[in-house]
Amino acid sequence: MIVNKNISTNTTLPTLGRAGEGLRIAILGSGESGVGAAILAQAKGFDVFVSDKGEIKEQYKTVLTEKNIAFEEGVHTEEKILNASEIIKSPGIPDKVELIKKAKAKGIKIISEIEFAGRYTNAKKICITGSNGKTTTTMLTYHILSNAGYNVGLAGNVGKSLAWQVATTNFDYYVIELSSFQLDGMYDFKADIAILLNITPDHLDRYEYKFENYALSKFRVAQNQTADGAFIYCADDETIMQYLEKVNPQAKHYPFSIKKKVEQEGAYLNENEIIININQNPIIMTIEQLALQGKHNVYNSMASAIAARLVDVRKENVRESLSDFVNVEHRLEVVATINGVEFINDSKATNINSVWYALESMTKPVVLIMGGVDKGNDYTQLYDLVKDKVKAIVCLGVDNAKLIENFSSAVETIVEAKSMHEAVSYSYKLGKKGDAVLLSPACASFDLFQNYEDRGSQFKASVRSL
Ligand code: ADP
Repeated sequence: MIVNKNISTNTTLPTLGRAGEGLRIAILGSGESGVGAAILAQAKGFDVFVSDKGEIKEQYKTVLTEKNIAFEEGVHTEEKILNASEIIKSPGIPDKVELIKKAKAKGIKIISEIEFAGRYTNAKKICITGSNGKTTTTMLTYHILSNAGYNVGLAGNVGKSLAWQVATTNFDYYVIELSSFQLDGMYDFKADIAILLNITPDHLDRYEYKFENYALSKFRVAQNQTADGAFIYCADDETIMQYLEKVNPQAKHYPFSIKKKVEQEGAYLNENEIIININQNPIIMTIEQLALQGKHNVYNSMASAIAARLVDVRKENVRESLSDFVNVEHRLEVVATINGVEFINDSKATNINSVWYALESMTKPVVLIMGGVDKGNDYTQLYDLVKDKVKAIVCLGVDNAKLIENFSSAVETIVEAKSMHEAVSYSYKLGKKGDAVLLSPACASFDLFQNYEDRGSQFKASVRSL
């Protein structure tokens, strides 16, 4: 039963009318994106029902109650969900749960909040995905556009829900961070500018342990684009280059690279200068002038700058914003220097690739705090860098056996800590003047902490109490 044909493909219907008259929409998950979707769906005349199997945060319950939107928590009542013509699913809910399987079997279309919101806005959408660097690049792009005076919203994984903003504001541009889970629920959505930063193995448990499925999911950021769109991608990423031919995105291509000269429009590194070449009018800056340091951030800066130039942000504005951007918390964030030991919080580094880039950017001997819940890491990829740059490792997780096994031959000292407080005081003792203590765990945080923010905040608090 697909009763929603009249709305599912109509991306040009925006803002107008009460598109959902009479149709029922069920929303699974009642966080920022679910509640945003509910508000927009209600505004468009749908019969809305919100269902969350967990507890709904007080602030969101208040909104739903005030707006008279029907909801339930602690349960998914199937009869109230499987009678919907369409389901908007939170990206956190995997496809394999029973309810989703049943909905699919009934032919109910299951989409993400971003897909839904995209139907009702004509704003230009800059969409950013990749395995690492999404938030940084999204925030940086947003920073450039907003500093240049653009009427721009920030949405997706960061900022407020896109649907919520579409319902209540009137932006000309959106900068949107997209995870692969969000992309999986997107079908007709069209990015004006798509950025694909990199593809390295992550979340494979949601992709039948097939890297190909995950890679193709990332490429969905460019689906539906036509020749008038822009596809910005890292030409140094082997996986991207491998799938590029296969997927063949229709938008105009803008590669960026730090390894080779890019002859077409795009960006590249020439010795210590980055060249952002759009409209035959290049911006040239040295990497020292960039606010964000480290090779990975050269990529992020290039990607953001290309996007900004494609929406005609002036060169001076791009240049200025690339050099005055203050990075988001928990990403290679310098916390303090105590008796000559620098403490750096990279709690957001939850996979091998991000730790690789963090270590790569280190110029001082490192005491590395790592560990947590391992998502199937292959630590051999870090071995050489650890051997080269790390003098000591402090393991901070419930089970550290794998770390010890992989790295004890690479470093002088490897110790275990049971709490962040302990980890910080051990590292301080192990560090000497001129060293850096880096928290870059390569793992999720759910064993000892609520989330990566909690882990990073505890690190900062412990450092400040030294
Ligand atoms: P995401 O939103 O994709 O998780 P973040 O911007 O939050 O990415 O950064 C996550 C981690 O990855 C941080 O530790 C950061 O230092 C590292 N990182 C940032 N950009 C890149 C990149 N382009 N390539 C690899 N690692 C990166």
